[in-house]
Amino acid sequence: MKSKAAIKMIRPKGGAIATHMEDMIRLLGEDPHREGLANTPQRWEKAMQYLTSGYQTNLSEIVNRALFTVDFDEMVLVKNIEFFSLCEHHLLPFFGKIHVAYLPKTKVIGLSKIPRIVDMFARRLQVQERLTQQIAEAITEAVAPRGVGVLCEAQHFCMMMRGVEKQHSGTVTSAMLGSFRRNKATRDEFLSLVNRA
Ligand SMILES: [Zn+2]
Repeated sequence: MKSKAAIKMIRPKGGAIATHMEDMIRLLGEDPHREGLANTPQRWEKAMQYLTSGYQTNLSEIVNRALFTVDFDEMVLVKNIEFFSLCEHHLLPFFGKIHVAYLPKTKVIGLSKIPRIVDMFARRLQVQERLTQQIAEAITEAVAPRGVGVLCEAQHFCMMMRGVEKQHSGTVTSAMLGSFRRNKATRDEFLSLVNRA
């Protein structure tokens, strides 16, 4: 977990990113001072800071006081969590849906916290595989459940707009930990709940 001081060091002063963006606009053959582009570098900096704000979030802040002791050992599933992320290879968006399930041991987490955990990792420079894994590991760390399953279905702008230009291809990744990894019946229950209309 990053200390406050470390975050300050890596987070440049306001305007530093915008200055680079202005140079990039020029290098792309545009006039950064024409009316439509005049404030684009500042807007882009703000947008990028928001889209990478997951670096400033940590799990303990999210989980804070939202763990509850329960006598419940059936699967908890939050499905169709929308997410938007940036692929670290092209800095282009990838987006889609994430389904998160776990089997509680003694604790459950407030349901609204699960989308916040998704956002914490989605709002970083990512690859879909790591995003999926990090969410599963964070749920494991937060809840200490018997197992966790995460399924991520995404579309990547870097595939849709450039390169192979395949607009309708989707990428599916999964991370199965604990009983979800060991037990086929648990995995199958998760996948059938996800696929149920
Ligand atoms: Zn990409």
